[in-house]
Amino acid sequence: MRQAGLLVWRAHQEVAQRVRPGVTTRELDAAVERVFDQAGAVPLFKGVPGKVPFPAVTCISVNEEVVHGIPGDRQLLEGDIVSVDTGCRLNGWCGDAAYTHPVGRVKPDVQRLLEVTRSVLHLAIELMGTKRLWSEVAAEMDRFVRQAKFTTVENFVGHGIGRTMHEEPQVPNFASPQYKRQGDFVLEPGLVIAVEPMVNMGTKDVRVLSDYWTQATKDGKYSAHFEHTVAVTAEGPLVLTAGENGELN
Ligand code: MG
Repeated sequence: MRQAGLLVWRAHQEVAQRVRPGVTTRELDAAVERVFDQAGAVPLFKGVPGKVPFPAVTCISVNEEVVHGIPGDRQLLEGDIVSVDTGCRLNGWCGDAAYTHPVGRVKPDVQRLLEVTRSVLHLAIELMGTKRLWSEVAAEMDRFVRQAKFTTVENFVGHGIGRTMHEEPQVPNFASPQYKRQGDFVLEPGLVIAVEPMVNMGTKDVRVLSDYWTQATKDGKYSAHFEHTVAVTAEGPLVLTAGENGELN
């Protein structure tokens, strides 16, 4: 799984180099597709069933778009934020990660949204080494985002990952009595999960756009998304989608 995760990291490095005003979201998608093609990896997002099958290798969501945006002709503008989510299967194993990038200079409160969302993911990874149950981690994530005066999206959750991208268990990024009762799990060695907080500046509520895929905030305020594939080991959490030297960005 580390090999798949490292390839996902490399794909995201290609994206990070290209994010600037004027680039289209399709160009970012094409860069990721090339990385996967050259390594003989299978892109996991293309063809995901829905009202229409998902048409691209990445989900690219701009500004008030939360997740599941479709890459296309849209040109990024100075002050935008762009969330890029992608995953691949390499030698039978999957990796999945997402980052939100600022495009040029963004407003200070938008920059803070990016920092809080990245930090809540890093907090969750760290706590996976000290807590016994996922619900204990989720409760801390919930508190962290509330203290920052932002909201956590509750319509979407992280997931187990292995030979396929979406496996049990479901991995909520928020405190939920329902999940705690029905879906809580022990953080034991061998577990691999994709942790992916989505954080909004305004309401946590989302709506789907007319393309049947893109999820956007109901109030039009900005949203950020960071994700890593993380293994629990006897030595602690191991980020499978980190860089060669364990870089998380
Ligand atoms: Mg995921």
